[in-house]
Amino acid sequence: MRDLSVYYCSQCGFYAYYQLPKNAICHRCDIAMTLIEMRYQDFMNLDYEQRDKLISDQIISSSTPYIQKICKPAALHNQREIVGCLTQEVTRLEEENQKLNQTVSWMHQTIWSQLKRTRTLEREIQKLQNKLKKSS
Ligand SMILES: [Zn+2]
Repeated sequence: MRDLSVYYCSQCGFYAYYQLPKNAICHRCDIAMTLIEMRYQDFMNLDYEQRDKLISDQIISSSTPYIQKICKPAALHNQREIVGCLTQEVTRLEEENQKLNQTVSWMHQTIWSQLKRTRTLEREIQKLQNKLKKSS
């Protein structure tokens, strides 16, 4: 019988044990889970807090540099710093999102007016062609 391996979900932190990698799919997120490079028995010997820390560290170390920065060990003991960083980041993302929305609505308007102009030009061409046909 194959040994069990420990897998975790990098999105929600759920962990479970599987024999086959193909079965390691997070039932909450429906994504493939990541293998933990540790023997099943060693993992079982950890208490819940140690497991949480191990998986948290793995999720953080495979995340973006920004997340790594705000989750660096020193910052983790300073919740004010984390809240400050996250608040700034959320504000920045909201502003960026607003700018993108404005760009999209500007593009919509531009495209519509271009379309109208194209239609008008097409009609002009049609008229001219009709005139040409009549005069020939
Ligand atoms: Zn998940």
